[in-house]
Amino acid sequence: SEHLEKLKQSGNLLLSIINNVLDMAKIESGKMELNVQPMDMEDFVRSLEGMMRPQAEQKGLRFIVENRCCQGLALVTDRLRLEQVLINIIGNAVKFTGEGGDVIFSITPEEGSSGGQRERLTFSVKDTGIGIASEAMDSIFNAFEQAEKNTSVKYGGTGLGLAISSRLVQMMGGTLGVRSVLGEGSEFYFTLTLPIG
Ligand code: ADP
Repeated sequence: SEHLEKLKQSGNLLLSIINNVLDMAKIESGKMELNVQPMDMEDFVRSLEGMMRPQAEQKGLRFIVENRCCQGLALVTDRLRLEQVLINIIGNAVKFTGEGGDVIFSITPEEGSSGGQRERLTFSVKDTGIGIASEAMDSIFNAFEQAEKNTSVKYGGTGLGLAISSRLVQMMGGTLGVRSVLGEGSEFYFTLTLPIG
């Protein structure tokens, strides 16, 4: 059954690589479309936390969720694509942070943006991991780019996740940004304006 587990893991890894390549192809050919619908924000965060917490805790990380948004509110967005972006950047934060480190996922509404017909929300994923060299900061958003030549050997991955994520965030009306200090940690963040459904 240890073999079975390994087999399952490599199957899943292969599937995620195929899905990334297909998404990139879809984006490059201009065929990527969003499917927006009202979604329950609290339910969304709970289910995302359920997916990511085990990964983080298995690695001996603290996973902290700070959701200051949207009690009982339905917001209109593409749930699967938003989830894909956050799984990617939280997954990276977990991957590039060593034991004993922190990953903090927060959702913060803009002051005074509540009560109207839309919410302006900043999504942020902060980690205390290896950080990113300033000269690599722009290129990590390019397809197939990793911060260091030995990244794929040491950490795996294909360098497609951030390219796809930044395009998806763009399609949702935001910009995926990064702040990082080498050896101290990184923060990936974006702000979206979502209609209340
Ligand atoms: P992958 O994770 O498959 O390598 P991504 O496009 O998701 O590809 O990320 C590109 C590169 O950006 C990574 O290989 C890594 O060098 C760097 N990176 C992304 N997120 C982080 C992070 N939280 N901390 C340090 N480096 C990161």
